[in-house]
Amino acid sequence: MENCIFCKIVAGDIPSPRLYEDDKMIVIRDIEPKAKLHYLCIPKQHFALLSEMDEGRAEIVKHVFQTISTLEEQLGLQGGYRVIINQGEDGGQTVHHLHIHLLGGEKLSDF
Ligand code: 5GP
Ligand code: ZN
Repeated sequence: MENCIFCKIVAGDIPSPRLYEDDKMIVIRDIEPKAKLHYLCIPKQHFALLSEMDEGRAEIVKHVFQTISTLEEQLGLQGGYRVIINQGEDGGQTVHHLHIHLLGGEKLSDF
C-alpha cells in the first residue's frame, strides 16, 4: 500500500528493529512510547479497520493474538499489559494499517 508507513516498515524501506517476525506479522517498539514498554504488533498484510474483516484477515488477527500470548516473557510483559486497537477518527487512529498496541512494564493508570 503506497504511502503507508507500516507497509514501509514491513517491507524494510523504513528501518525499524523487529523484536519478533514471522510470515504474518512483526513486533516493533513504538517510536513515541506511552508506557515504559510500548510495542506495536503489525500484520504484514495491509488493512485499516476491523470493519474490513474477512475470513483471511480474521485468521491473521487470531494469529497475532496467539503469538502475543507466547511473547509475554520475551517482551518483559509477564506482569500484565494493556492491549489497544485504535479505530478510525474517534478512536484516535493515526496510522491506517491495523495494529495492536501492547503497553506494560509498569502499573498503568486507569483510563
Ligand atoms: P495509532 O494512533 O494509529 O493507533 O498508533 C500509531 C502508532 O504508531 C503511534 O503510537 C506512533 O507513535 C507509532 N508510530 C508512528 N510512526 C512510527 C514509526 O515510524 N515507527 C514506529 N516504531 N512507530 C511509529
Ligand atoms: Zn499498510
